[in-house]
Amino acid sequence: MINLPVLVLNQNYEPLNVCDVRRAVVLMGKGKAELLENGRGDLRTFRATYPIPTIIRLFYMVKRPPPKARLSRKEVFVRDRHTCQYCGIVSTDLTLDHVLPRQQGGQHTWDNLVSACSRCNNRKAARTPREAGMVLKREPRPPRPNPYHIFQHLSLLEEWRPFIPWA
Ligand SMILES: [Zn+2]
Repeated sequence: MINLPVLVLNQNYEPLNVCDVRRAVVLMGKGKAELLENGRGDLRTFRATYPIPTIIRLFYMVKRPPPKARLSRKEVFVRDRHTCQYCGIVSTDLTLDHVLPRQQGGQHTWDNLVSACSRCNNRKAARTPREAGMVLKREPRPPRPNPYHIFQHLSLLEEWRPFIPWA
């Protein structure tokens, strides 16, 4: 119960992050946050009874730069919308392709990595797209910072949806 996820809203009601019930109860106990949704009943301890929050809102504004996506296979697939950047097929079974092959000095960076289906990846092999006669759908770039990045990989509770702009 104490580890269940709680949506934390900024003072202006923008979704900020997700914490656990324990942390949310501490924030409310210190007067730093208010309970917005209590979808889980109450938590009884020796000393008191606490509502178990599903959403809290901070009484102060947290300002921070949008988090950047860390470079990983999964994040490259997300950036490319699970689409092979050569043939355009949408797949859950993609591979990572170095546009300029590593053998030719290609780096493991956002602007040299694309999602490719295994067929295209095999066909391209250790060649550049030009050498392989293949054309990229889009030039790979680092993804734009997204303030809601952390929510992309979370399963959202039904009660959170009114506060999540795209849900
Ligand atoms: Zn393909």
